[in-house]
Amino acid sequence: MGLLQIPMETNTFFIESPCSQLGKDRKGEPGMKAYMISEKNGKVTSGIINIEEPQLRGPKSVKVAVESIGICGTDLKIYTGHHSQSVGADRIPGHEFAGVVTEVGEAVSELKVGDRVVHEPISFCGRCYACRKGRGNVCSSVRVTGCNMEGGMEEYFVADEKQWHKIPDWMSWNEAALIEPYTVAAQTCVRAKLEKGDSMLIYGAGPIGLMLADTAVQMGAKVIISELADGRLELARKIGIQYVIDSKTENVRQRVMEITDQEGPNIVCDCAGVPALSAEAIDILSPAGRFVPVAPVTFPLDSYKCMRKEIDISASRLQINQFIPVINRFAQYKQHADTMITDEFDFDQIEEAFQYANRREPRTGKVVIRFHRNPDAEEVRV
Ligand SMILES: [Zn+2]
Ligand SMILES: [Zn+2]
Repeated sequence: MGLLQIPMETNTFFIESPCSQLGKDRKGEPGMKAYMISEKNGKVTSGIINIEEPQLRGPKSVKVAVESIGICGTDLKIYTGHHSQSVGADRIPGHEFAGVVTEVGEAVSELKVGDRVVHEPISFCGRCYACRKGRGNVCSSVRVTGCNMEGGMEEYFVADEKQWHKIPDWMSWNEAALIEPYTVAAQTCVRAKLEKGDSMLIYGAGPIGLMLADTAVQMGAKVIISELADGRLELARKIGIQYVIDSKTENVRQRVMEITDQEGPNIVCDCAGVPALSAEAIDILSPAGRFVPVAPVTFPLDSYKCMRKEIDISASRLQINQFIPVINRFAQYKQHADTMITDEFDFDQIEEAFQYANRREPRTGKVVIRFHRNPDAEEVRV
């Protein structure tokens, strides 16, 4: 696992006091480090700030010392000023994180100080139509940690007990940072109505494409992934995806039809965000197939083709009820964690980590930030 040293650029700053927005509820003495990205009039600045430690907010509140945090595409959108909900805001990003419980409210029943936990980043109203249907991930007022509220790129984080899940002792902190993106992959499989034996084509082998492919393979699907960047093709082969198509040199459509015995894939997931691929997906899907847009894109939809084959278009967002199943299945994903995580940075180097991740080099899989306060499961075992 490489650790890259990249020189700091000049759009960074370091301030000693809470920023305007966070300062409203953090009036006390600055006591911990947090990473903040601020967008103002199209200009983005970022850096480590010093703010007051968060306090328990109620009887069900749990405070956690953060150990590991993954950098996600959403964090990079915030970093580059392209995240609509963070425009004009001071944002502490981060929604893929795990740590150790340091304090619990008096009504907390399942967790205790010292427990190792991972954060579930969504909270929802419980009353709107989506919530009544059991789909709080698309609640009309869904709140997402690190996206439209404070995130986990800081030393301590407080959330209600229901937003923390215990992780097994054998799991390393790096692996724990992969749980949330694996839940997003699991949600995609649920939305795709994936069943054992189904064929699934995935466009794009970035971290989400890879974790989706890994999840679908473990669920018994025949998985085909197409990608043009060599580094990502390599990662896809390394985690054992059955069919890896190099779209630079191979005719994707022809190969997919061969692999599926001319039936066409039963499921196509677009993780590449190329409009022409979405149109192609509708063309090549088998009758009764499902198309799952994962990367946002605008494309002309031929509804006649959809009708003839009765194709479902099932978009997927975040996840609902996927944390426990993913944690229970994680032993299967563990073997690929070292391949998925290509880079690890210490929290003090978080600015370099963002600069590096934002270059989106083909060899880059998941980038994880670490605090190194509590030893890793791997280190304890030695
Ligand atoms: Zn994410
Ligand atoms: Zn709701």
